[in-house]
Amino acid sequence: MPIIKALLTLSLCGLLAAAPPPAKTPVAPLLPGEALALSGPDGVVYLFGDASTERPMGSMAKLVWLKLEGGEWGAMGVQFNCTGTFKGSHCWRPKGHGRVDLGKALAEDCDLAFLAWGQASVQWWLRDYGEGPARARLEDAFGPFLGNRMPAGEDLPAIDMSWIGAGDLLRASPDSLVRWLVDPAQDETLRQVKRLLLSFKEFNYKQGAWWVQPGSCPEPGGASAWAVGTNGQIVAVMHLPAGTDRAGAMARFKAVMLVPK
Ligand SMILES: [Zn+2]
Repeated sequence: MPIIKALLTLSLCGLLAAAPPPAKTPVAPLLPGEALALSGPDGVVYLFGDASTERPMGSMAKLVWLKLEGGEWGAMGVQFNCTGTFKGSHCWRPKGHGRVDLGKALAEDCDLAFLAWGQASVQWWLRDYGEGPARARLEDAFGPFLGNRMPAGEDLPAIDMSWIGAGDLLRASPDSLVRWLVDPAQDETLRQVKRLLLSFKEFNYKQGAWWVQPGSCPEPGGASAWAVGTNGQIVAVMHLPAGTDRAGAMARFKAVMLVPK
């Protein structure tokens, strides 16, 4: 065999070996610009489209806050009145969300409720643990999405909108987000999201029911969108191209993952 042909054959074999095998989970074809990472019942992560590129975490940062403080906030029955602005920060819905509890704030993606509750929580951490451990707690929880962007110093950084997903501080890819979601450390978070979303929205709260959470992805060139969801067996994260809003992200996730109507 000529050397060039042998090399080509070898590199083709390498490519085939590196490509993920087809997932056992049926998915509808993606549209241009869409990316999907899913973990099926076999526990293997499958990637479709450009699912490894990191982008701003946007609304998905709320899932990390739920991991950190969701149990506490749920037990306290936190409430917030979103008027659209809070201490100089703005909610994505200019007129605000009105009075929200934890379930409504998650379902309607209220940035300011999570900002207010997050700011209150870190004050409790400072009081209970002190500055260093409070900083470590924040860095540890957001670590997979922080890269090397943790603000320098020994202090607990101020909790502003960048910790609620605005800007570039927190970044994720469909791949990194699905791996975080399927980590057993997130089991309780996923159970809480299911309780919050399925009791609030019009789904049946039953075994195998899907919950789907869409959200924005504030990319500099124009906001794109995220959608995550699970039915308890399959966990999937989609990124949708610029111009997709929350409703569009939800609709595409359901179409691609063949979520029953
Ligand atoms: Zn709001």
